[in-house]
Amino acid sequence: MDRDGPSVQLGNGIEVACGDTRFFLDPRKVTEEGICCISHAHSDHMPSSFASGPIHCSDITLRCMRGRVKSMKSKTFLETVEMGDSPLVKASGAGHILGSNMFLLDAGQKVLYTGDFCPQDRLEMEGARPQKCDALIIEATYGNPRYKFPDRSEMIKVIRDWVEDMLDQERSVVLRAYPLGKSQELITMLKDFQPRLHGSVLETTQMVEGDDIRFDYLPFDPEHVGPQLVISSGGRGDNGLSALRKKCSADVSGWCLDTNARSLGRMGWGMDQGFAYSDHADFYEIMDFVKRCDPSVVYTHHGAEDTLASEIRKRLGIEAIPLKKEKKGQTNLGRYC
Ligand SMILES: [Zn+2]
Repeated sequence: MDRDGPSVQLGNGIEVACGDTRFFLDPRKVTEEGICCISHAHSDHMPSSFASGPIHCSDITLRCMRGRVKSMKSKTFLETVEMGDSPLVKASGAGHILGSNMFLLDAGQKVLYTGDFCPQDRLEMEGARPQKCDALIIEATYGNPRYKFPDRSEMIKVIRDWVEDMLDQERSVVLRAYPLGKSQELITMLKDFQPRLHGSVLETTQMVEGDDIRFDYLPFDPEHVGPQLVISSGGRGDNGLSALRKKCSADVSGWCLDTNARSLGRMGWGMDQGFAYSDHADFYEIMDFVKRCDPSVVYTHHGAEDTLASEIRKRLGIEAIPLKKEKKGQTNLGRYC
């Protein structure tokens, strides 16, 4: 990159600066000191403090943040927050979860920030589309060559067939997934099996719903007699799940690739099955995305940033720099969704 290009560093989230213009990408604190962009409402990308200033995010992300913030001060802020309208920011779908966005910034040069992203269309969600840019800031959650996901439409068939088999055998099924994003995908792909939502999955789904989006489901009912399909985050103890007779359970996560069988490994204590179905790009999708964006420099963050940067340099011949936390508490990008 030439010397007049924007600077990119970790600080309040990821900070991009060019002259007097500053952008804060997934900042931990919303501020008026620059233009704040929030990619999606997973906790590791969401601010913990909303002091002042407009924010660039989707309507769904704002709705989820309103439901998720803890402090009353932040709730009050979010009720009245102005949505950003800077001509220097162009949002587009990231294909990760409902309402997730990428941002193309005009920072002297074109800078694309992906947040978490997935390029493959699936169910009712369009995948992220590459955009020509000078600098690309890209997530590295699965930024290691060992991560290659099975085709997601094939995995949807595999998950549906397994659920159908189990229910036909008069067994109840518990699918474990993140409450925001993956759970709503499962509800959509399995709607004809009448999914029942447990605990935080029910709360989160109700939070996401609005005039523009509705899902078909029932609340989990431990009194219900007979086999049923339950979607649960597994995060808050049992809460009635042990009452299910002849229960079988499965994880639905890209991390299932780390288990013995490549696409159908066992995952987690007490799980009967694992399905490697992810709402992130895998390593090969990341590489293809980088190539098609054709940047002169790539910044990697959030996961295997060193490995990914090294592979981008080696395989694509593009300068790549890992964005890494240098001091304790410098960034909130520490937990992966
Ligand atoms: Zn995420």
